[in-house]
Amino acid sequence: MRQPLVAGNWKMNGSRASIAELLDGLKAGIGNVRTVEVALCAPAIYIPDTQVQLDGSAIKWGGQDVSVHAAGAYTGEIAAAMLTDFGCHFVIIGHSERRAYHSESDALVAEKFAASREAGLVPILCVGETLEEREQGVTEQVVARQLDAVIAHCGIDTVGEGVVAYEPVWAIGTGKTATPEQAQEVHAFIRGRLAANSQTVAEGLRILYGGSMNPKNAAELMAQPDIDGGLIGGASLKAADFLAVCAAANR
Ligand code: PEP
Repeated sequence: MRQPLVAGNWKMNGSRASIAELLDGLKAGIGNVRTVEVALCAPAIYIPDTQVQLDGSAIKWGGQDVSVHAAGAYTGEIAAAMLTDFGCHFVIIGHSERRAYHSESDALVAEKFAASREAGLVPILCVGETLEEREQGVTEQVVARQLDAVIAHCGIDTVGEGVVAYEPVWAIGTGKTATPEQAQEVHAFIRGRLAANSQTVAEGLRILYGGSMNPKNAAELMAQPDIDGGLIGGASLKAADFLAVCAAANR
């Protein structure tokens, strides 16, 4: 059985003070969520503070992006080994905001996945279609292309060491959630695509849903057979909301 994972993506939000308060609230409430793996992906500059506060707790932490390079003259970049140096367990790879605003290609995302694994991080690979692509009926082609690029570059067994997050771009930060049926359909497609390469990886790999998941819709989404948790943006910034989403994943 796949252990549910709920990962928060704070994006570029927060301050030292607000993050300290948020983490206090999360640590106080997380005790009831026993069967779920919980993680928070912090802005890079707040990872050290996050580590200090979460060390010894049940909550893991991670980054929101990583360099493909191991070290050297790459101003502004953060290497995977730097994230592990601060106790990161996870890193988000290929978020649609990075694909859209930083022109990250499928090939670059695949290299980031490989660099993360080499340093021992667990990459959370984001895939998903835009509204235009959904309306054109090419959702599966888009998701397959994004996934296949990583499988081709890293190999299916390495992909199996990560996590996939299906995040329809039209549902991110918009308040528009995919219906449980719409999400399940794509999750099942992703699992089938993995199964074509390895049945073992397909059965073991966690596929998260991301896109306006909140305390109201989380339980219905998590009840779908191929939804193994969530990648949570807005609702991860409020302790009560994030804890409620974690509780909805508790099986
Ligand atoms: C995200 O940024 O990965 C995300 C799912 O955001 P939101 O929950 O705010 O839609």
